[in-house]
Amino acid sequence: MLRGLSRDVDPVSAPFAWETGPDGRRELVGTRVTQCALSRICGACAESLGRPIAFVGDDLEVARNAFHAPPLHESCAEALAAVEPSWRVVRTAAFEFVRPTSEDLDRRPVFQPSALLE
Ligand SMILES: [Zn+2]
Repeated sequence: MLRGLSRDVDPVSAPFAWETGPDGRRELVGTRVTQCALSRICGACAESLGRPIAFVGDDLEVARNAFHAPPLHESCAEALAAVEPSWRVVRTAAFEFVRPTSEDLDRRPVFQPSALLE
């Protein structure tokens, strides 16, 4: 378990990079997304990532190959996708972390998997 976590992390019910808002919707926490990217830890369980790396996203994110959720273990991604019917899982060996520029309307960083694995 990562030191310094302020709360318990459960890959499915309390994934590291998400918070559940007052309306019950799950939202990404930007600072944790960045932490996952830079420290190469899983966005669900906060443990170190290996290979393959998995991402979860909706059809649009898959089509654009640009994901807002941080990298995940394959098993964590599948567990998350099982409770979020709109999410699909993609697998990759590597990814780029792309930070928005001041011109971008969408100021969230995105992850661009390279060389998707079947
Ligand atoms: Zn994980």
